[in-house]
Amino acid sequence: MTAVKMSVIGLPKETVSGEKRRSALPINVKNYVRQGASVFVESGYGDSLHISDQAYRDAGAEVVARAEVLKQADIVLSLHKLPADELSAIEKENALVVSFLDPFNDPEYLNQLNANKLTSVSMEMIPRSSRCQKMDALSSQASLAGYAMVSNAVEALPKVLPMMMTPSGTIKPAKVFVIGAGVAGLQAIATAKRLGAAVTAYDTRPVVAEQVQSLGAKFLQIDLGETSETNQGYATALTPEQMQRQQEQQADCIADSDIVITTAQLFGRKPPRLINSETVARMRPGSVIVDMAAETGGNVEGSIAQETTVINGVTVIGTGAWANQLPLDASQMYSNNLSNLVDEFWDKDEQAFNFELEDEILKSSVITHQGETINEMYLSITQKGA
Ligand code: NAD
Repeated sequence: MTAVKMSVIGLPKETVSGEKRRSALPINVKNYVRQGASVFVESGYGDSLHISDQAYRDAGAEVVARAEVLKQADIVLSLHKLPADELSAIEKENALVVSFLDPFNDPEYLNQLNANKLTSVSMEMIPRSSRCQKMDALSSQASLAGYAMVSNAVEALPKVLPMMMTPSGTIKPAKVFVIGAGVAGLQAIATAKRLGAAVTAYDTRPVVAEQVQSLGAKFLQIDLGETSETNQGYATALTPEQMQRQQEQQADCIADSDIVITTAQLFGRKPPRLINSETVARMRPGSVIVDMAAETGGNVEGSIAQETTVINGVTVIGTGAWANQLPLDASQMYSNNLSNLVDEFWDKDEQAFNFELEDEILKSSVITHQGETINEMYLSITQKGA
């Protein structure tokens, strides 16, 4: 067993422009300190959440300059990966950095981690098992994203969602079509239903139909032949023929919808293209598409990352950073995910993080260690793709 023990937690601010979420609230700091950790928080850490430095001090943290956080920490917790040129500021030998790492899209960053001999945990790679649900940051953030996407669509739509019967006339419920009914999609369906929309959804994994129906939405039936999912519950890619059949058979439903929300992802690959320009052109002017995948390649032809665009009168929202629109709740959930991960490996007697690389959770989520990229799933996917 690797017996590296660590007890100093560092919390630097996020450097990605506009990012308001944080990786620990004062309550989490209090828990770390109670368990025997020392916590260093960057000055001004909670400003984006209206949480003062004093609140972090009261919880037991030392509030210091960024350089000091990185210098002192055995474990650096953040949401986005630290800028590559800051990695050398982490001084502790074999320090652990934990964040979303986006390893498949940024292999060069892994080289930087290795060059600095940093051990890294990628929050995207936490296994999807019952034991890990409380650490599942992809799910916690996706769930809020589902809510935020509906809220964005509602703002752009020149209609209300619920049916209204008034002496001045009857308003029909808005029609919402959600494509991809995983964690984000199911939350989008539930939110749109709560607001009174008539919701239809589609997903290539047949097991999802029942979940969609249990939320009171309709499941669009498309016969694609055989589709499958991985043992982690992720969809596998469709064949080109299946993709074409899906696009053809969902086109009428899209054309008839006021709001279309696309959430389809393929783990470790570019998201599938679900809607082409011809189908967008069939939608009524004034209707709205939200493309959750706009920043990573796009489910919708014509969507622009980080922007809202109008195509023939159809508003296409690709702004992204969905969970960041609800930074307090998103921070609470992400901070709890991290804190549950730290707790899982906290040695109560040693009052330190016990780095058990043989454990299923770290085995799945550690990407780099002692100067090497060691993650089996990462290596198998990237080598297959090479
Ligand atoms: P995801 O973000 O990878 O994908 C979103 C959805 O897009 C998925 O439901 C996928 O099936 C769907 N999709 C892919 N290609 C599509 C296409 N061409 N057309 C329509 N839909 C398409 O997935 P996710 O939301 O993170 O999770 C997927 C599933 O994993 C969940 O529904 C759940 O069953 C499972 N899960 C399990 C755990 C756990 O056990 N701890 C945690 C989270 C999720």
